[in-house]
Amino acid sequence: MTSPCTHNFSRAIPVESGYDLVVAGGGPGGCGAAISAARKGARVLLVEATGTLGGMGTSAMVSAWSHMANGKHSVIGGLMLELVETLYARGGIAPSYDPAFWNTIHNRGLGYNTEAYKRLLDELCEAAGVEVRFFAKVIEAEADPTRKEVHGLILHQVEGMRFVEAKTFVDATGDAILADLCGVVSRRAGRDTPHIMPPTLCSALAGIDYERFHRKHQQEAVERALADGYFSQPDRHVPGLFRTGKTTAILNAGHLFNMDALDTVSLSEGMRNGRLLAREYTEFFKQYLEGCEEIEIVTSAPAMGVRESRRIVGEYELDYEDYQARRHFPDQIAIYCKQPDVHVYDTSPEEYARYHREFESMDVLQPGESYGIPYGVLVPKGWRNLWVAGRCCASDLKVNGAIRDQPACVMMGQAAGTAAVQAIRRKQSAAEIDTRELIETLRADGANLPQRETATTLTRKEVRSDECAIVPTLVGSP
Ligand SMILES: Cc1cc2nc3c(=O)[nH]c(=O)nc-3n(C[C@H](O)[C@H](O)[C@H](O)COP(=O)(O)OP(=O)(O)OC[C@H]3O[C@@H](n4cnc5c(N)ncnc54)[C@H](O)[C@@H]3O)c2cc1C
Repeated sequence: MTSPCTHNFSRAIPVESGYDLVVAGGGPGGCGAAISAARKGARVLLVEATGTLGGMGTSAMVSAWSHMANGKHSVIGGLMLELVETLYARGGIAPSYDPAFWNTIHNRGLGYNTEAYKRLLDELCEAAGVEVRFFAKVIEAEADPTRKEVHGLILHQVEGMRFVEAKTFVDATGDAILADLCGVVSRRAGRDTPHIMPPTLCSALAGIDYERFHRKHQQEAVERALADGYFSQPDRHVPGLFRTGKTTAILNAGHLFNMDALDTVSLSEGMRNGRLLAREYTEFFKQYLEGCEEIEIVTSAPAMGVRESRRIVGEYELDYEDYQARRHFPDQIAIYCKQPDVHVYDTSPEEYARYHREFESMDVLQPGESYGIPYGVLVPKGWRNLWVAGRCCASDLKVNGAIRDQPACVMMGQAAGTAAVQAIRRKQSAAEIDTRELIETLRADGANLPQRETATTLTRKEVRSDECAIVPTLVGSP
C-alpha cells in the first residue's frame, strides 16, 4: 500500500554520452525513428523495456497491420512499405494475402508471423547501426520545461542506473512516458477525459482449419453465445481471430473495462483477468465456430494490449473535424486511410450501436480517400529537441483510434527520426524545423506524400478549449 510519505534519495550514477538520438521504446514508432535516423549516419541508442522489438505488434501479440490501401492505391511508403515487402518475400505474411492487400484492398488488415517480424526488426536495426538496448527502461528524465529542452534520461538496466545524454530524443513508449517525465503537457485517459478505451490481452492460437473457418461467421456466433448466456460479460464487440499462419491466429477478444494502463494495480489485475478472458474466448471459438474444433491457446501475450493511455499536446492536434474533411496538409509526413476505431466503453446495446455506426458505416472512407498526418502531431508544443512517434501523438480520441495503428506509427517514426537528424545538422529546433526540407527528404526515402504544395513552417493548431490539458505532476528536472 502506498503511504503518504515521500523518500528522497540521491546517488552518483555512470554517465553515457555521444549519442545524436536516444529513442525510448522499440515499437513501430520507435523502430521507425531509430532505423531512419541511423541510416542517415546518426549515432542512435534505442532503449526497449522488453527483450524484443515490435511493441504491441510482438510483445502484445497484435500481429496484424491495419489498412495500407484505400481501395484505389497504397497509402504507405518508405520504411513501412519495405517492412511489408520484405516480410512477404520471406514468407512471413499470413497465407492468402498478397501484394494486392497493401496496393489496393480497402478497409482490411493483414496478419504476419510474429517471430519473423521480430527477426526482421533485429536485422534492420543492426544493419542501420542502431545500438539496441533490451531490458532497459526509461525511469526519469532531466529536462528544462521552460527552455523546452531535454538534457538526458535515466535508464534502469541490469547493471543499475545510467544517465544518458543526447542531442535529441524521441518518445515512442506508446504511453508518452518520456514526454511526461520531461514536463510535457498531455492528456491522460480517464483523468482528463471521461473514460478509458478498454485494453485487451491478446493471445496466440493454433489448430484452426481455415478451409472451414470464416471470419464473417464470427458475429453471428457471438449473438448465439450471448443468447445462451455463455460469456461472463455480455460484450457484443468481439474483434476475434486474425489469421497469422497456416493454422494460427491472434485472438483479439475480451475488453478489460475501466482498466488503466498507467496504474500498476489496475494493470496487474488486468493481466490476470485478461488471461481468464482469453481462455473463455478460446472455448467460445471451439464450441461455436466451424473449423475451430481443434483450436488451442499457445500463450497469452506478455504485455497488455493498450488502446488508450496518454497523448501529448502538440503543435498540431489532429482531430475528428480534420478526419471528416479528409484534410491534407502542406507539412504532412504521412497519409492514412483508416476510420476511427473507438471500442465500446461498456456492454450496453447503445455503446455497441455507437461503435458499429462509427466503425462499420458512418465514418468509413470511400475508395480513393485518405487524410494527412501533419508534422506538428509529433512535436510537443514548443519543444526543441523532443519528438513523439506512434500512439502518444497529438490527436483527439477519435482520430487517435485511427492513426494509432501500426502502419501509421511506423510512418510517424520515420518522420520523427528524419526530423531529429535534420534538426541536428541544420541546428533547427523541433518546433521550428524547415518542413519543406523534411518533406523532400522523406520523399527521397520513399514516403508517399502526394501534397502539391509544401511550406517551410509547420501547420499549427491551438489546443481545443473543450478538452482540458494538464501539466504532469512529475517533472524530471530539478
Ligand atoms: C488489442 C489491440 C489490437 C490492435 N490491433 C491492431 C491491428 O489489427 N492492426 C494495427 O495496425 N494496429 C493494431 N493495434 C494498434 C497498435 O498495435 C498500437 O497502437 C501500436 O503498436 C502503437 O505503436 P507505438 O510504437 O506507439 O507503441 P507500442 O507498440 O506500444 O510500443 C511501445 C514500446 O515502448 C516500450 N516501452 C514502454 N515504456 C518504456 C520505457 N519506460 N522504457 C523503455 N521502453 C518502454 C514498450 O515495451 C514497447 O515495446 C492494436 C492495439 C491493440 C491494443
